[in-house]
Amino acid sequence: MAAAAEPGAHTWTGGGSPRPGSPASSPVLGGGGRVRPAPGMERAGARHPTPSVTLGHSFRKVTLTKPTFCHLCSDFIWGLAGFLCDVCNFMSHEKCLKHMKNPCVCVAPSLVRVPVAHCFGPRGLYKRRFCAVCRKSLEAPALRCEVCELHVHPDCVPFACSDCRHCHQDGHQDHDTYHHHWREGNLPSGARCDVCRKTCSSSEVLAGLRCEWCSLQVHSVCSSAIAPECTFGRLRSMVLPPTCVRLVSRNFSKMHCFRIAETTVQDTGEGDDGVDGSTAVGPGREALASPESSKQTLKIFDGNDTVRRNHFRLVTVPRLVRSEEVLEAAMRAYFISEDPCDFELQAPPLLTQAGETEARGKARSGGASGDEGVRDPPPEAWVIRALPRSQEVLRVYPAWLKVGMAYVSLRVTPQSTVRTVLLEALPLLGRQTENSENYQLVEVLMGSRQVQRTVLADEEPLLDRLRDIRQTSLRQMNQTRFYVAESQALIPRVSLFVSGLPPGLASQEYGPLLQEAVGTKADVVAVSHVYPSQGALVLDVTCFAEAERLYMLVKDTAVQGRPLTALVLPDMLHTKLPPDCCPLLVFVNPKSGGLKGRDLLYSFRKLLNPHQVFELTNGGPLPGFHVFSKVPRFRVLVCGGDGTVGWVLGALEEIRHRLACPEPSVAILPLGTGNDLGRVLRWGAGYSGEDPFSVLVSVDEADAVLMDRWTILLDAQEASGTDNGMADVEPPKIVQMNNYCGIGIDAELSLDFHQAREVEPGKFTSRFHNKGVYVRVGLQKISHSRSLHRELRLQVEQQEVELPSIEGLIFINIPSWGSGADLWGSDNDSRFEKPRMDDGLLEVVGVTGVVHMGQVQGGLRSGIRIAQGSYFRVTLLKATPVQVDGEPWVQAPGHMIISAAGPKVHMLKKSKQKPRKTGGGPKEARMDAPVPDGDANGGTGALLRPSSGTLGQMWDALFASKLLMGCIAPHHSISHYCGHTFQYPLSSSVQMVDFQAALPLVLAIAVSLVCDATSAEVGGGRETQGLFMDSQLYM
Ligand SMILES: [Zn+2]
Ligand SMILES: [Zn+2]
Ligand SMILES: [Zn+2]
Ligand SMILES: [Zn+2]
Ligand SMILES: [Zn+2]
Ligand SMILES: [Zn+2]
Repeated sequence: MAAAAEPGAHTWTGGGSPRPGSPASSPVLGGGGRVRPAPGMERAGARHPTPSVTLGHSFRKVTLTKPTFCHLCSDFIWGLAGFLCDVCNFMSHEKCLKHMKNPCVCVAPSLVRVPVAHCFGPRGLYKRRFCAVCRKSLEAPALRCEVCELHVHPDCVPFACSDCRHCHQDGHQDHDTYHHHWREGNLPSGARCDVCRKTCSSSEVLAGLRCEWCSLQVHSVCSSAIAPECTFGRLRSMVLPPTCVRLVSRNFSKMHCFRIAETTVQDTGEGDDGVDGSTAVGPGREALASPESSKQTLKIFDGNDTVRRNHFRLVTVPRLVRSEEVLEAAMRAYFISEDPCDFELQAPPLLTQAGETEARGKARSGGASGDEGVRDPPPEAWVIRALPRSQEVLRVYPAWLKVGMAYVSLRVTPQSTVRTVLLEALPLLGRQTENSENYQLVEVLMGSRQVQRTVLADEEPLLDRLRDIRQTSLRQMNQTRFYVAESQALIPRVSLFVSGLPPGLASQEYGPLLQEAVGTKADVVAVSHVYPSQGALVLDVTCFAEAERLYMLVKDTAVQGRPLTALVLPDMLHTKLPPDCCPLLVFVNPKSGGLKGRDLLYSFRKLLNPHQVFELTNGGPLPGFHVFSKVPRFRVLVCGGDGTVGWVLGALEEIRHRLACPEPSVAILPLGTGNDLGRVLRWGAGYSGEDPFSVLVSVDEADAVLMDRWTILLDAQEASGTDNGMADVEPPKIVQMNNYCGIGIDAELSLDFHQAREVEPGKFTSRFHNKGVYVRVGLQKISHSRSLHRELRLQVEQQEVELPSIEGLIFINIPSWGSGADLWGSDNDSRFEKPRMDDGLLEVVGVTGVVHMGQVQGGLRSGIRIAQGSYFRVTLLKATPVQVDGEPWVQAPGHMIISAAGPKVHMLKKSKQKPRKTGGGPKEARMDAPVPDGDANGGTGALLRPSSGTLGQMWDALFASKLLMGCIAPHHSISHYCGHTFQYPLSSSVQMVDFQAALPLVLAIAVSLVCDATSAEVGGGRETQGLFMDSQLYM
């Protein structure tokens, strides 16, 4: 938080560091107003005279008892002496003190440029991270902001101020120039300073600065060498500039504005601004003193507010101590570094009622009292209070930013009212007083969770107002700021997106339908957009109260049995977009790939503007496309599996005609398993934790390619043979296909897997478990035999095609099937064109069964080439499993018509500049799949050579999934079975291996081992028999 100071800002004159001659050095302030001996000085030896006093720190020389690092240069402090700030725990070399740039946490609120509240998610464990308030490490569960790098202890939250990123225009302090938004500490390990090129990160202490927008990383000392204006850095062309986004909200939280799903239960025991004394004692922090120790522990309250909530902080002091020292310790606990002479400790009101006298309570006043020395053990609870003041110095800030100064300081006396202060401030801020009635004084409370604005009445006596705030809480006084603002009312305009309505109605039916469900007020609510095919609409609400009411109510309403979804959407000021800007619209499916989706959401919200990142489980792809509908040029990044990509491409197809950029290019960050499209476009088989920043750079450098998309019309006929109960007649259905469509055996396997997943959804969160199930499902299928070619008919371009004996028929659009297998094969064939994903042709291939599928997966064989064409009709004679892009179902008898769908889509293909890590097989589609080392040496077994790496992964998967437990003894290595060595540990395979190909391949191996043990060079027949017998168990 402290690093929110802008060390390089030329115009910045506020804060505790006024420069000579700056307008802030008003006579009253006298050059900082903080020139005072700080507490602890007498106790701990001579105070070091440093400029740091102006940054609010209270440094003292301390003796080091354990290895310690400097927070400024991040180097080790050799020797026994360091300099420690009593308020914020900043530790420094003596030599570094003179370079001090970081302000103390107690003055941080005064350095905020535009107050913006943070957006705290649920508590989590953040290792090797440090609290921005107290600078100590976060060992216990702590809080972090979802859109900036702020990390804090739960009980430090109230002391962080609202210095989050300014991600949109909100009608309060809008401007179009951006300064670096420095955040201190928690830099990625090994980060190098962009000025001096030396390491500036630290895993030991809070050190180094990083800009929240452009990711510039510097030593705080080096930051002064950098111009203050931020140009958004390497990602500038894809970041949505905050000046182009407008969102006016009143009581909508940041979570609502950034559409962050409230997935986890909100914390309890921690109020909005609460300091929960009962949990304040974390590890490594103040601990309760035992009764017999020479120290005592006190409960300290800050004003009426914390007394009312019973939120206190604990302070430990020696039993024999002067009252001043207790006061100083109490003030430090609340990060107050002002002169203790202005404060005193009082007994809390409750104790007074319990028989304590008022005089007793006053006994511990600050420096004013002269009675030092020994006194009775103090009561256990005290309240810090400011002594009454006959006048105050008030800082008044202009609400407009293009001004040469941050604030002016004015004297406030008992006679001062809001109006007199306004009249005094306006000329100093360069505005005429003639039309002073056009201005108002706004009190802004800069809480870390919320920024509250109150317009003050003209006649209000200001001194009373200040005294009231101090009585409430000194922390609150520290976080309160007064702005002179032009008194134009904020025009409320909230865009509410509502989805979940029945699709396919006429446009004009949606307004009345919603009106009926939630009673929209016609005078302030207008329907601005309707999306009938998605059952969604966008409301324009011109009243905050109504917008808030609708938002809450809609989320709690169901129409025709389906719950509605509500989202607050920002307005895009698309005309302000710079010409070279092509913002990236990011969709993340947080349910894909275990927890990786969640992490990516968080990373992309921080690296880009959170307004361009959309969570697909929160309203689907439509809200994102709606927000970007006027943007003349943008690209899309989809993070998820192939199903997610299909979802987004389908939504794009439906909304394309309403977009100013109808053909945005789409990049893929594959999550989870499968990901054939991701492989073909070189984005890899599955995300395994690469730096999200370099992912974005790759997207920026990617090349656009075209891809065909296909429509499948499914028209179930009145079933003639209703022998298996699949007789339900469904209306014709149209599905979109990107990758492939399978009829028969592969769909059936996929279906079994999905059904297993439905039964026990909790078991399938990891890629690993998924695989185990795939394998088991396959083992069940091995004994089946059927003859698909007799159960369907195929027409290609209206010509009947004779089918060979097959169990599965597969239509392929991209050269990767079932996790990277090449179903078509690479051989030249005079009958067919060489397949391309943009040639307007689909390839049709047959497989004879699971063993054949396994062999295709293993690269041993390809499918049986049947046809190539652009228009297909399949007649199903009986109910048959069908899968499209991995999504399976049982299709009733009838027709399937496959034809080209609309225009080709523009996909982004990762450019080839970076060297590939893998030795690589002959198949390009597999190039990105992580293949363990040691597979390039060529296995000894002829059967296994083509993709022995994958085979090895299979074996490991089987071992780890315990499917073969009991039939393969632990001491048998894989090489024992396969005649081949796999040189990677089992544990690493869990995260890096893609197991999608597991099932058919395992089957193929199993069958081959039994039928043809010699060619596989298997160690012994007994074990293979065991494997096969085990597989029988699953049938
Ligand atoms: Zn400090
Ligand atoms: Zn240092
Ligand atoms: Zn803390
Ligand atoms: Zn933040
Ligand atoms: Zn920057
Ligand atoms: Zn540096």
